[in-house]
Amino acid sequence: MTDYEQARLSTLRRLNILDTSPSESFDRITRMASQLFDLPIAAVSLSDADRQWFKSRVGVDHREIPRDRACCGEVSDTSEVLVVNDLMESEHYRTGTLAESGIRFYAGAPLTTRDGYTLGAMCVLGHEPREITEHEKAILGDLAAMVMAQIDLQHAVGRVDATTGLPNHLQFIEDFQDLEIDNPGGACHALCVELLDYSQAGALHQALGPGYVREVIRSAATVLHETLGDRGRVYYTGPGQFMCLDAGNEATVMTHALRIHEALASSNRDGTSPFMVRPAIGLAPFTLGTHKPDSVLRMTLSASRDARAAENPTGLYSCQSDESHQRRFSLIASFSEALEAPDQLRLVFQPRVDVRSGACVGAEALIRWQHGELGNVSPAEFIPLVENTPMARSLSDWVLREAIAQAGIWFRERRGLRVSINIAAVNLEEHDFTERVLAYLSQQGLPVSAIELELTESGLIGNGRVARKQLDALIDAGIEIAIDDFGTGYSSLAYLQEIPAHVVKVDRSFVDGIEGHKRGQILVRSMIEMAHALGYRVVAEGVETREGLAFLQSLDCDEVQGYLFARPLEKQEFEGWLAAEGGRPAASP
Ligand code: C2E
Ligand code: MG
Ligand code: MG
Repeated sequence: MTDYEQARLSTLRRLNILDTSPSESFDRITRMASQLFDLPIAAVSLSDADRQWFKSRVGVDHREIPRDRACCGEVSDTSEVLVVNDLMESEHYRTGTLAESGIRFYAGAPLTTRDGYTLGAMCVLGHEPREITEHEKAILGDLAAMVMAQIDLQHAVGRVDATTGLPNHLQFIEDFQDLEIDNPGGACHALCVELLDYSQAGALHQALGPGYVREVIRSAATVLHETLGDRGRVYYTGPGQFMCLDAGNEATVMTHALRIHEALASSNRDGTSPFMVRPAIGLAPFTLGTHKPDSVLRMTLSASRDARAAENPTGLYSCQSDESHQRRFSLIASFSEALEAPDQLRLVFQPRVDVRSGACVGAEALIRWQHGELGNVSPAEFIPLVENTPMARSLSDWVLREAIAQAGIWFRERRGLRVSINIAAVNLEEHDFTERVLAYLSQQGLPVSAIELELTESGLIGNGRVARKQLDALIDAGIEIAIDDFGTGYSSLAYLQEIPAHVVKVDRSFVDGIEGHKRGQILVRSMIEMAHALGYRVVAEGVETREGLAFLQSLDCDEVQGYLFARPLEKQEFEGWLAAEGGRPAASP
C-alpha cells in the first residue's frame, strides 16, 4: 500500500463516517444528482481498503461493492473526475461488478478533503452508454463540493464546542494521538485551566443564569487564545475547563501557565463584572506514548484541584494526591453501574425510638454500597461526590423506591413504623420531585405519614425558587420534613423559624459524650428548648450511652437514635430486633 493510500485511509477512518446510518443531508444531494443528470443511479461512494461503501445512494440496493474494478476506486486513486461513456467498451471495467449488474455509463467527481485526500466519489450511473458535457462535469464537481461541505460540517459539529468555538474533548483525544504518532517518547506538558470551582459555578448559574456563565466562559476562551498565541491549540474539554499541550520544558510551561492565570484573573478586574473569575491551572508532565489522553486529562485536573485547594495559581501533578482524586473519580465513574447492578446497593435501617414510651416508632433508611473492587464504601464518602453530579437524581430515586417499598411491607404488617429517607438539596431542584414521591407512595397504597424526608440544614436554607416550591409542595401534601445534622451547618439558630420543617435532628457531634460535658449540655438544652418553642419535634442522633439517654430524657427530647439501641440493621435483622428488643436499649452498645 502506498503512503498516500495509507494516509488517505486513516483520514477516512478518522472522519468516522464509514458504516454510519443514512442521512438526509447527503441523500438530498444524491437525489439532486440523479435528477439533474436524468440518470437512475447516483451515490456518495467512499473508498475503503477493499470496498466502495455508499454513504448515500439512489437506485442501488446494496450498501457496498468490492473496490476492485469499481470506477469510484479509480477516482480515489487519481483524485480526478472520471467519465466512462460505456463500461462495455473498457477492457478494465467490462468485467467489474458494475458492468455485470448492467451499468453502462459512469461519471464520478472526487470527494477531496482540504488537505488533499480523496475519500471517494460523487457519482452518477446509467444503464445506457452516454456522453457528458463540460457543463455537466462542472455540476458534478459542485455536487462533490457540497458533499465535502456536509462532511466538514458534520465533523466540525462533533469536534467543536458550540459556546467557545474551540475544539472539544474528542478533538483533544484525536490530536493527542496524532502527536504520539509524530513524536513517540517525546516530553510534553498538559495544562488544564479550570475557570471556576464547582461551588462557584453552581452559585453563578443560580444567581446570574446560564447565559451569563456562557459569556464568562466565552470571554475566557478569547483571553486564552490571545495569551497562548501560536504556542498551541486550546481545547474546551469540560464545563469551565480548558486544556492545552505544550512541548516546552517545565520552567517555560510554568511561566506560560502563570501568564495565563494573570490574564484570566485580570480580565474582569475592570469592575464591570459582578464576580471574580478564580482560575486554577494544573500542569502534568508526561512522555508521549506512555499515557492515555483521558489519564492525562485526569492528572491535570487533579493538579488544578490541588492548586485551588492550596489557593495557588498553578499546581504540578502529584502522584500522591492523585490517588485520592483517582479514587473519587473512579467512585463517580462506577456509581451509575452500581445503580443498575442488582447487588451493589442496599438499604439498612436504624431504629428511631420514642423517649417517653420507649417504643420504636420509625427507622432511618441508610444506603450501603458494596463496590465490586473497592468493597464497602461509606455513604459519607460517596454521597457528597454523587450529589455533585447529575446522578444525584437517580440516587435519590433509587433510595426513595426502595425505602418506600420497605415502608409498604411494614405498613401492611401493621408495624406502625415511619421510614425516614435522606435526600439531597439538589433533589428539590427536580421539578417533578414531589410528584414522584407521591406516585411511589400511592403505588404502595401508603399514606404520606408512612415516610419522612431528611434534609440537611444547609440544604434547606438559601435555596432557589424551584427548590422552595418543591419543599412547599411536599409540605402541602402532608409529608414531614426533618432537618438533619442540625447545628453543623453555617446557619444560626435564628434561621430555624424560617425553615418549613417538622422535626429537628440534633447532630451526633453535640450528643457524643454529652453526659460529661457541661458546655455541650447547655448547648443541647438550648437547641431543644428553642426547637420545641418553635413547634418542632426533636430527635437526638448518635445516642450511645444510658447516661446520654437519661440526660436527653430530662430535657424532654422526643426521639432518639443511636448505637445504644441499635446500629443500622439489615431488613431481617431489623425485624428480629424489633421483635426481641422493641425500643429497649441494647445490653451493651
Ligand atoms: P445521617 O443521615 O446523619 O445518618 C446518620 C449517620 O450516623 C449514619 O451513618 C449512622 O450509621 C450514624 N450513626 C447512627 N447512630 C450512631 C451512633 O450512635 N454513633 C455513631 N458514631 N454513628 C451513628 P452512615 O450510614 O454512614 O451515613 C452517613 C451519612 O450519609 C448520613 O448521615 C447521610 O447524610 C448520608 N446518607 C446515608 N444514606 C443516605 C441516602 O440514602 N441518601 C442520602 N442522600 N444520604 C444518605
Ligand atoms: Mg439522616
Ligand atoms: Mg444526621
